Amino acid sequence: MGLANFIVNWHAALKCHRSDESRILAIQKQRFRRLLHHTVKNSEFYQELYSGIDIDDCRLSDLPIVTKSAMMDNFDRFTTDSRLKLREIQQWLADKNNDGKWYLEKFLPIATSGSTGEYAVVVYHRMALELVQASLSVRHPFGFRRSAYEHTIILLTQLLSAKARIAAIAVARGNLVAIIKKAPAFHRFLAKLKILSMFDPIDQIVAALNEFQPDCLISYPFFFAILAREQLAGRLKIAFNHPLSFLAGGGEPLTEHTHRLALEAWNMRIQDDYGTAECYFMAASCHKFGRLHLMSDLCILEVVDGDYNPVPQGKYGEKILVTNLANFVQPIIRYEIEDVVAYAGHSCECGLPFPALLPIQGRTSDFLYFQKPQGGYERFHPYRFRGPLFYIKELHQYQIIQTARNELAFFYVPQSDEGDIEQQLRQTLEEALGQAGLESRVTLKLKRVETIARDDRSGKFQIIKSLGAPLDLDTALDRSTY
Ligand SMILES: [Zn+2]
Repeated sequence: MGLANFIVNWHAALKCHRSDESRILAIQKQRFRRLLHHTVKNSEFYQELYSGIDIDDCRLSDLPIVTKSAMMDNFDRFTTDSRLKLREIQQWLADKNNDGKWYLEKFLPIATSGSTGEYAVVVYHRMALELVQASLSVRHPFGFRRSAYEHTIILLTQLLSAKARIAAIAVARGNLVAIIKKAPAFHRFLAKLKILSMFDPIDQIVAALNEFQPDCLISYPFFFAILAREQLAGRLKIAFNHPLSFLAGGGEPLTEHTHRLALEAWNMRIQDDYGTAECYFMAASCHKFGRLHLMSDLCILEVVDGDYNPVPQGKYGEKILVTNLANFVQPIIRYEIEDVVAYAGHSCECGLPFPALLPIQGRTSDFLYFQKPQGGYERFHPYRFRGPLFYIKELHQYQIIQTARNELAFFYVPQSDEGDIEQQLRQTLEEALGQAGLESRVTLKLKRVETIARDDRSGKFQIIKSLGAPLDLDTALDRSTY
């Protein structure tokens, strides 16, 4: 059922992909109006919010802005399916046995702390995942090189013979893995999927990849740089020669340096994807120039300043307002996200009919560097904390400040006044440090607070405030420290 639907969506996405901007705008308008109707009919929150607004005729800018806290405070009235109750979903998410399963047979809930450290839950409908995956699939390079007919033949060949072998190296229980496991493009009839934890020792990951011999790799940009170096050093030995081969990354900026490493190692470009939990498919890069292009058939992105005024093309805004046109079950309409984005304001020579964006700012993963007793530093990826913290449902918001080289202050705001979560938080943080062999070297200070303050200079929330790389850091870091 899911797979058949995916193939139908794939054809529609291929047509869209080869059409022009006006056709895509027409699709966008149609989906926007359908989303509004469905939302007002089924979500109590939006019924109230849009009272007095003519949803047949209004412009997007006539609609009020929605914040993360408004969504979470009203969750059970916010969604368009009355069976979705926040507490029940949180309990379901916290149970490891549910990893890789559908919730109520057709929903995929994910938890996030986003860029503000403020907890949120987003539920995707299975149909939305099918629609999005179809669109993302045709954005990958093989979609450009072939006609719709050839494309379909390749798909059928996959069904009947050689399956693509896809390896994802990510946070084992993170959102990326949750989405990949449910993405129809990676359905077991089409692909063999292997999930590896990026926190395993690098030798173990290299050995697993050498054995699996993936045709496609999905990971974070910083990890592609590590793997490319392993390949160039001759320890990693993978070749990409499947017709559907690709490298796909996202979640942090893809630097030119990483790009060059990947080209040198495998002669392949990395497909860069940009999104957040509320709309994980906002933009994908083109294969020719690596520019991000908005997924404008599936979402609307307004770039605004601090007072929500539109910012001209070519200039960076202070935040964005996102409208997710694919997922009707938890309507994200003019939803505020504090990402720094700009439209390029000119068309891209690649010929894609989707608007190009300038590189996204501020997606940097703020690495923490800790001193080792024998000298030198350990580089610690913040996902080591952020991944496990997603699953503490009593945690509302947090911030980690590196107060000295081997000292962290953890500030947290609980969901409610009931119960004490300090012990649970300490244990989670210590476990994450322990996995990197750091438990006895880093002092943790936990403090419960009423609110997490915004950064004085940028006015933004900063989840992790690292001291940054030490001045005497040996740039040729030991491989084992990633
Ligand atoms: Zn382009």
